[in-house]
Amino acid sequence: MPRLTIDGKPIEVPAGTNIIEAARLLGIEVPHYCYHPGLSIAGQCRLCMVDLDNAPRPTIACNTQAADGMVVMTDTERVRETRRSIMEFHLINHPLDCPVCDQAGECWLQIYYMKHGLYDPRMVDDKVHKPKAVPLGPHVMLDAERCILCSRCVRFCDEITGTGELGIFHRGDHSEIGLFPGADLTNKYSGNVVDICPVGALTDRDFRFQVRVWYLDTARSICQGCARGCNIEVHTSRRRPHHAQGRRVARLKPRYHAEVNRWWICDEGRYGFAFVDDASRLTFPVRREGQAVHELLWDEAIPAVADALRRHQPDEIALLASPKMANEDLWAVRALAERLGTARVAFRVPPAAGGDQDDLLIRADKNPNTRGAELLGLDGDAAAIMADLRAGAIKCLWIFGHDVLHAAWPPAEAFEALTRAQTLIFSGTNASSVSALAHLVLPAAAWVEREGTVTNFEGRVQRFRRALDPLGAALPEHELIGRVLATLGAPVSATRAEHWFRALAAAVPAFAGMTYASIGDTGQMVSP
Ligand code: SF4
Ligand code: SF4
Repeated sequence: MPRLTIDGKPIEVPAGTNIIEAARLLGIEVPHYCYHPGLSIAGQCRLCMVDLDNAPRPTIACNTQAADGMVVMTDTERVRETRRSIMEFHLINHPLDCPVCDQAGECWLQIYYMKHGLYDPRMVDDKVHKPKAVPLGPHVMLDAERCILCSRCVRFCDEITGTGELGIFHRGDHSEIGLFPGADLTNKYSGNVVDICPVGALTDRDFRFQVRVWYLDTARSICQGCARGCNIEVHTSRRRPHHAQGRRVARLKPRYHAEVNRWWICDEGRYGFAFVDDASRLTFPVRREGQAVHELLWDEAIPAVADALRRHQPDEIALLASPKMANEDLWAVRALAERLGTARVAFRVPPAAGGDQDDLLIRADKNPNTRGAELLGLDGDAAAIMADLRAGAIKCLWIFGHDVLHAAWPPAEAFEALTRAQTLIFSGTNASSVSALAHLVLPAAAWVEREGTVTNFEGRVQRFRRALDPLGAALPEHELIGRVLATLGAPVSATRAEHWFRALAAAVPAFAGMTYASIGDTGQMVSP
């Protein structure tokens, strides 16, 4: 544990810590472009120069490890002058197209120019021109003129995905980032290069020109794309985004978590929010009688669901919950099953196609809460429920979200089973072939429109927050189940997600002692 002083402040850091990270621990920012804690050291941008008391010249902090007795100065006149010169060098050929650049407002050229530059430009020659708006792959656009050749994107593709699509080509001030011949930036994590590009050279094709970043609101959340549960931020726009009509989620960005996803997320998760404002969203409750479809108010729909459930014997009713539902919803499903007196509850519907998995983040299980559903005791036999429905032994089925006609079951048999139901209730976010058959359709809020918790494959319970209002009349599933329970006469005190979580933590040993506060922003492991 070397002990050193930085700007006169003493600190002890683990061996191997570089000066940028040691200074960060003291709250001192050493400006840098090419250094990234998740990548190898390149020492390329030269901006992180600091003074060491025994060195004749300023030294780069990224490639200097803290040593015992070291005296570091990050703010001497010599360091300030060096930074100014390096900023001027980085901006010599920069096009300064901030007014039309998506990075404006979160660009490290802008930020560092204001903090460490503020020189009068001396460049009188024509700037070197390079290709602009070059698609590198389905998600990423390159503006080579804006690139400062920090090589973060190259190192990401070499070291993190191992796909090596990018390189730096040509020499001197004609150097530019590009794809190797025949390569496309199609790896499953390509969007991360946009996040780590410190400038506006790599922009997100989905987000480009949608909205200025200073109009974005942020909510801390958890990706629901697979069982990893990557920590993310949901960025929403109070202003209508420019092109995509009605789209409210502007983008998803990774949120650092040392043990879950570090700095990264996959493209599948990053771009997996189109359903939220899709035209297929269910926005009001519906009753279907033969060919007739009636729109309902909740005050009509909830009693209709309760009446339908009351009409059947307990052993004629089954609930098909989903591992896409939050813990709070699943606990409400359990409470409903107990109230109805049915033991026919399941959540596992096999997908028609197997999911891909890798060693970085992506999990084969494309559900965020399979582990939670297991721990909450909902692991019944869904295939047997469908068989009993087809045989007429089950007469009332409530399906939560699943498109069972596109599962790994023979579609003709599944269709026959659904059409035999005397009462088919469907709740979910979007219309599907199941909602088209259901007698009662209940619109559910999407995960970005509500709060809750999910339990990832390792058993980490993580909170996601509400980023948007639910579309139309949609409600979180725990709320609509709670209303049905209340109409059935059950003593339900839970109205918010947090109440349902409190109830489940009091009843299920794996969650004992957990609260929303104790889960916080980093999550909490379930008890073994
Ligand atoms: S494109 Fe961005 S990340 Fe890649 S080298 Fe240029 S500035 Fe760095
Ligand atoms: S790895 Fe899974 S949880 Fe992470 S971003 Fe991708 S889909 Fe989402």
